[in-house]
Amino acid sequence: MKFCPKCGGIMLPVRKDGKIVLKCQRCGYEMPADEKTLKQYKIVRKTREEDKVVTTKTVVEAEKLGVDKDTLEQAKEEFYELVLDQIGEYGE
Ligand SMILES: [Zn+2]
Repeated sequence: MKFCPKCGGIMLPVRKDGKIVLKCQRCGYEMPADEKTLKQYKIVRKTREEDKVVTTKTVVEAEKLGVDKDTLEQAKEEFYELVLDQIGEYGE
């Protein structure tokens, strides 16, 4: 999970021009997503147990950075949709 260097928002993978980039859900800042980073996102959705672990970590990190709860909840939903989407495309 990456956070925006500008505003501390959650960076989520999105498709852009046929590639995956990380985009801030709050301010729209984008950064290139390398393969290593995308693998981290992919791992997240393997099991429900792992989901919970990652979600908890994310909440703790996000709270440290001052991400408000609504933003976080929304980002989590979008995150899981995106991750599922990615597994379809990048799954081994
Ligand atoms: Zn941002």
